[in-house]
Formats: sequence, structure tokens, C-alpha cells
Amino acid sequence: MSNYDKVLIRFGDLMLKGKNQRIFREKAIALLKKNVIDLNVKLEKRHDRLFLVINDVEESIIKERLMRVSGVGSFSFVVTTEPNYETMALKAIELIKKEVKKPTTFKVETKRTDKSLNETSQEITQILARSVLKETSDLLTVDVRNPELTLYFEIRADEAFIYLDSIKGLGGFPVGAAGRGLLLLSGGIDSPVAGFLAMKQGIEIEAIHFESTPMTSIESAQKVLDLAKKMSLYAQRHEIKVHMVPFSKIHEEIINRISPSYVVTVMRRMMFRLAEMKAHKTKSLAIITGESVGQVASQTLESMVTIEAVTTLPILRPLITMDKLDIIDISKRIDTYDLSILPFEDCCTVYTPKNASTTPSVKKALINEKFMANVEGLLEEAINDIKTFVISPNHPVNLIEHGFTVKEAWEAMHDHIEGQ
Ligand code: ATP
Ligand code: MG
Repeated sequence: MSNYDKVLIRFGDLMLKGKNQRIFREKAIALLKKNVIDLNVKLEKRHDRLFLVINDVEESIIKERLMRVSGVGSFSFVVTTEPNYETMALKAIELIKKEVKKPTTFKVETKRTDKSLNETSQEITQILARSVLKETSDLLTVDVRNPELTLYFEIRADEAFIYLDSIKGLGGFPVGAAGRGLLLLSGGIDSPVAGFLAMKQGIEIEAIHFESTPMTSIESAQKVLDLAKKMSLYAQRHEIKVHMVPFSKIHEEIINRISPSYVVTVMRRMMFRLAEMKAHKTKSLAIITGESVGQVASQTLESMVTIEAVTTLPILRPLITMDKLDIIDISKRIDTYDLSILPFEDCCTVYTPKNASTTPSVKKALINEKFMANVEGLLEEAINDIKTFVISPNHPVNLIEHGFTVKEAWEAMHDHIEGQ
């Protein structure tokens, strides 16, 4: 049994005004509902606050679910009680005895919206703190400046809430509140984190992956679908579309025709061209990548300039100045790390020369690309052969177990859907 009966949920929308705030709240509430729909809980709007009545559901489960909802600034597990001081103090003592395991410094904070009370907030704080301390002096000592624990009382006309510290949520904006972007999703550590950060800031994502099977292993394609599955928990409808682009022909043409130091540059220019074509078709307003400055040859500023010269869409790089260790921390938090470090080669690691230029120019890239035959035709063909998978948390796509190619898996799923 939980020590609490509700969770008080706060959105981080303090900066928004008027209509934006309303839209934000509606989206955030819809997202919240989506994430708790299978639990025995109930959303309750009381006064100007949003609560989740948690019945008998375990705190850890509630916490895990709320930590997936972008737009939630913070939340607190609360005990609801009658708004009289004696009962409030009793409940608070009970709560502290259950929750506080070792001697701790604390303070009391009181908020009251019931203006009919005779005492000021400060006087109420003193009354309550005194009653609580009488019974808990073995555990608590007062430190109003820098307490380890704060005990909050919020008093309304018809009820009061008691809670200890609040838990920080994802913050940001509800996913879907800020338009759509196309995420270049590879099997590495970075791009899933970039996708997550974009969603956290309100951007709905679709993913595009350039897969070079059979030059690369089918496991590398499966890995991308598995990563999308992890990320789908943060998506608006718990679904992420993954557009699988057959890239092996272009890949081969690049390896055969482009001078080794420009292979990576040209490969990435082709990816960005294809991404832009797909972005227009999917009404995506921006391209999102997991690039971080200086990590590899293709991620020097010079390289980025030369690569992105092929597009006009904005390129969002949420990780651009982040430290690798911080990126890894996030990937562990969203549970993509263990998948990302599986050692399957993707198109950027297989057959790519090691002496990539760190200062490629647009001029030289264009000269190199002239050696490729029928670039437009190859790009067009790749776009037309995209296989789109809609990935959700319980998605069954398993390319490896069934010995499928990407195309076969997609066809099998399509028959299945059409046959239903
Ligand atoms: P990651 O860990 O995301 O793979 P990385 O540090 O390995 O990144 P690169 O391999 O140079 O860096 O790729 C940079 C970015 O380009 C990736 O973060 C991703 O957004 C995109 N990208 C690379 N390869 C692919 C691919 N095969 N399909 C789709 N996007 C890709
Ligand atoms: Mg990579």
C-alpha cells in the first residue's frame, strides 16, 4: 500500500500565456492519460490543480509513467486530509514516520487559499511545525535555511494536502505541441537521444534510417527498429514511424566512384538529400540528427557546412555541444544505451575509409559527385522503395528470427494487416 492517495502534477508552462497555455495543457493532459490508461488510476481536476488518484497502484509504477510525459515539470505524492490543524499534524506525523528513515533537517511550508482562516500562513506553519516536532524530535531538527526535507501543507476550504519534496519531471513541452521533425536514426548512441530530446521539447518525430543490407547485417536494421520501440514510449500515441531507405546501391556507387577522403562527406550529403525529399512528403518542418561537434571527421564545423549545403530545411542538432558522457547518461535513462552499444556495423562504419577529410569543401564534394552515375535516378528509386514501419512498445517486428529481409518483413506485415 502506498503512503499516499494522490499525485499532484505540475506542468512547466509558467512561461506560456493565454491560448498557448490552454493548448499546452490539453495536449499534456491527453499525453498523461495515454500513459496511465492501463492503470487503475483517475485524473482529477480540482481547484486549479491536476491530481492523479492512485488507488492501489504502486508508487514506482506511477513514477515511471509520469517520467515519460513531456511537459510535466514536477510532481508530488500527496496525502489528502480534512483541513483542520490537528488532523493535518497527525497525518503528517504518520507520513514522516513511514518515509523518513534517518535523522534529517527539515522545515514546514504552508500555502493557504482559504482566506477565511484567522491565522496567517506563517502562524499556521508554526502551529503545525510545533505539533509535528513534538512527535518526531528523534528524527527531525528544524533548519529553515537549508533543510534536507520540506514538509508542505496546502490548505483549501474543503481539504488539505500534505507532501514532502517534489520529483522533477521531464519538463519541456508535450510532444506534438511543436510540429513535426524527421529524425535521422542510426544504430548509435546519439541519434536516439537526439530524438528523445526533440520529443521532450514538443516535436513529434518520424524516423528515417538508411540501411545498407545486405552489405550490412540484418541485425543492424533490427537494432534501429528496436531503438524506435524504446523511443516510442515518449511519442504522442506511443508510435514512431520508421522509414527504412534501401541505401546499398547508393552506398556501393559512392564507394566505387568517390575518392576515399570524400566518401563519408558524399554519403552524408546523399542521406541529407533523401531526408529532405522524405521530409517534404511527410510534412516535416526540420531534419534532426545526433551530431555533436568534433566527435568524428564528419562532425567538424567545416564538414557540417559542406554536408548541409544540399538542403534548405533547418537541421536541428540537439546534442551539438553536449559532452559524450552526458549523452550516455541520457541514453541510459531512456534505456537505449544497451541496444546502441551492440556491435553491429551500419553503413557509416562498414567499408568507409579511415582517412576521411575533416575539412571537406562543397566545391570538391560536387566534383566528386560528378563521377557517380545517375544520382537523381538512384535517389528517386531509393525514395520510392522506402518501407515504413509503425513501431510501438509492443511491436513484434523480428527480422532476425524469421530470416526476413527488411522488404520481406514489411510485406509480411502488410499482408497481415490487409488480411485482417
Ligand atoms: P550516432 O551515435 O547517432 O550513430 P555518431 O556519433 O555515430 O552518431 P555518425 O555516424 O557520423 O555519428 O552520424 C551522425 C548522425 O547522422 C547520426 O546521429 C544520425 O542522426 C545520422 N546518421 C548516421 N548514419 C545514419 C543512418 N544509417 N541512417 C540514418 N541516420 C544516420
Ligand atoms: Mg553512428
